[in-house]
Amino acid sequence: MSHEDCLFCGIVEGTIPSVRVAEDERTVSFMDINPATEGHVLVIPRAHSKDLLEIAPEDLAACAVAAQQMAGRAVDVLGASGVNLLNCCGASAWQTVYHFHFHVVPRYDDDRDQLTLPWIPTPGDPDQIAETGARLRGDEA
Ligand code: AMP
Ligand code: ZN
Repeated sequence: MSHEDCLFCGIVEGTIPSVRVAEDERTVSFMDINPATEGHVLVIPRAHSKDLLEIAPEDLAACAVAAQQMAGRAVDVLGASGVNLLNCCGASAWQTVYHFHFHVVPRYDDDRDQLTLPWIPTPGDPDQIAETGARLRGDEA
């Protein structure tokens, strides 16, 4: 199902131009027009769903496998030494296009100045961590 006003549905349908890299029954992979590094690819499901919470498990699985293939291609063809896989779900998590996508961002040994980890690893309060873990498990209070 495609959405009339959705940019990425337009890319799936071919009404919006894109540099396509791979496709299969469920997914399309194409170049990001604002690449974080050389070879930055977006992997999307053909079927519209707005984000990680909405996408059907079968489409999510297909996107994950396609993203793995794109990561392999980045290493084999572009000489990347690593890859970041990123999904943004919701405005607070930086999502700007509301058709699910994985960013496949090739990493290179000399790109440390270009991209940095978006948080500063700092030890948390162990009690708080355990308590939140219990809430996420659904333990009785
Ligand atoms: P996000 O901010 O996680 O929702 O990612 C949206 C991504 O889509 C951004 O990295 C944009 O650069 C990319 N983007 C937006 N429009 C296009 C387009 N027409 N073709 C390819 N990539 C696009
Ligand atoms: Zn869409």
